[in-house]
Amino acid sequence: ATPLSITVGTGKGAMAGILIRSAEALETAHKIDTVVLDKTGTITKGSPVLTDILPVDGTAGDDLLRLVASAEASSEHPLASAIVEGARDRGLKVTEAATFESVTGQGVRAHVSGLEVLVGNERLLAGAGVDPTPLVADASALGRDGKTAMFVALDGRAAGVIGVADTVKDGSIAAIAALHDRGLDVVMITGDSRLAAAAIAREVGIRRVLAEVMPEHKASEVRRLQAEGRVVGMVGDGINDAPALAQADVGFAMGTGTDVAIESSSVTLTSGALLGVVTAIDLSRATMRNIK
Ligand code: ADP
Ligand code: MG
Repeated sequence: ATPLSITVGTGKGAMAGILIRSAEALETAHKIDTVVLDKTGTITKGSPVLTDILPVDGTAGDDLLRLVASAEASSEHPLASAIVEGARDRGLKVTEAATFESVTGQGVRAHVSGLEVLVGNERLLAGAGVDPTPLVADASALGRDGKTAMFVALDGRAAGVIGVADTVKDGSIAAIAALHDRGLDVVMITGDSRLAAAAIAREVGIRRVLAEVMPEHKASEVRRLQAEGRVVGMVGDGINDAPALAQADVGFAMGTGTDVAIESSSVTLTSGALLGVVTAIDLSRATMRNIK
């Protein structure tokens, strides 16, 4: 590509809120045949809201929520913020946990009011030797609605399920349809459960889903697609997406996301709208057409 066409392409991108860091990114984007999309914060708004508090028999909902919110108070995860805000909205007093440990891609472990509190996915409970069986039916029902279900254990016993719901961003459905129209394969990747991921995928028209992917494995999934000979565009917003964004042939970060994601990407979509990926690919195709 000529330096002039690249400068023109980059300038057009900037006007559309698409910041392209290198000539190489603009030159590679037209070859992308597979677009991998993170779910939370990329396809969805990423600001989930507390919707369900489902204690097992013998525990009051308010007690369960107060303990869980206090355990989550030190976590920076969007799921934690949803729980803490939901508890405060319900007039509950959120206290500081005596101990706090965050388990990446799984949840949190804390001590609150003399109880050991675990909040997270099934893997977190399994890792602590807690039998999740009493919670599985409630968690599955939430998952089928596209909600994220969090398992709660108190002092080593299954105690309840907390549900939060995230909403699909305006424009995600249209952007995914536009990617399909251009003949691209679209894949959703998420650490969330298979059920919740499948429900959101159905809502936005994505057929291929990689769910329950640990943060450190998102990059290996991108590498696996590249090993099939695919040219991969990865779109994400979180710290957990950063290695995958760097691994992809072109990484697209949501401008609304974390700094680490932006630094690991060659393109930033300033408004956080998924349609920017389509515009960037179109721009690259037009730029490369002018050159040949
Ligand atoms: P995503 O890829 O959707 O951004 P993460 O890798 O951050 O998800 O987390 C994967 C899963 O681990 C979440 O869906 C949730 O079940 C659990 N989890 C992670 N952090 C927390 C937390 N602070 N509280 C409860 N559960 C959590
Ligand atoms: Mg995310």
